[in-house]
Amino acid sequence: MRKKIVAGNWKMNLNFEEGVSLFSEIVNMVKDEVVGDQEVIVCTPFIHLSTVAKMSENVKNVNIGSQNVHQAESGAYTGEVSASQVKSVGVEYVILGHSERRAYFGETDALLAEKTNVTLKHGLKPIFCIGETKEERESGKFFDVIKNQLVNGVFHLSKEDFAKVVLAYEPVWAIGTGLTASPEQAQEVHAFIRETIANQYDAETADNTTILYGGSCNPSNAPTLFSQKDIDGGLIGGASLKSRDFLDIVKVFNA
Ligand code: PEP
Repeated sequence: MRKKIVAGNWKMNLNFEEGVSLFSEIVNMVKDEVVGDQEVIVCTPFIHLSTVAKMSENVKNVNIGSQNVHQAESGAYTGEVSASQVKSVGVEYVILGHSERRAYFGETDALLAEKTNVTLKHGLKPIFCIGETKEERESGKFFDVIKNQLVNGVFHLSKEDFAKVVLAYEPVWAIGTGLTASPEQAQEVHAFIRETIANQYDAETADNTTILYGGSCNPSNAPTLFSQKDIDGGLIGGASLKSRDFLDIVKVFNA
């Protein structure tokens, strides 16, 4: 059975104190309210990672992610943070290929393949984001776009390494816009992604891959989205900054 996951992406929000306070609320709510096996991942800015990783040490099913790593092992890359550095403070996951990094920082599929390699090399698990822009959806080419992102970003991996990857389908037009893909639109793409993985690897690998949906997910739309056959949870931006909303999304898997 593939894992159900709800991951929060705080992006570049919250100072140190605000982040620690939000994380503390999340941990308390998880302890009190979560009854299933769903995994909760909180992807904070770098400044919070070490502290929240310690706070989550003995909390079942709560793990920490960073929002990026540099592709190099170490060296003269002023302002960057490496995979081994985030690993050393207790991080387990790394978001890669987020559309904001692709759009604003020029991250290409080739660069993301390098980042995926260094992430896995240091025992971290990528949350690899893929998704089409509004123009790509409207032109009907979105299946090709998504397939290319998979082929060039992660399909070079061995089956063993690919098994450590979590995928997140995030239509760019739905991120932070309040426009959510309908459950049918999201399910259609998730099924396509799973079929593409089966063709590249095998049916078992496809069946075991956790594929998250991301894009204006909230407590009202999460139950219908997560009930779709191929949607295994969510990558949550805005709603992950409010502990109550985030937990209500996590609790969709309590039932
Ligand atoms: C995201 O940034 O990954 C995201 C899904 O953001 P939002 O939930 O705010 O649309």
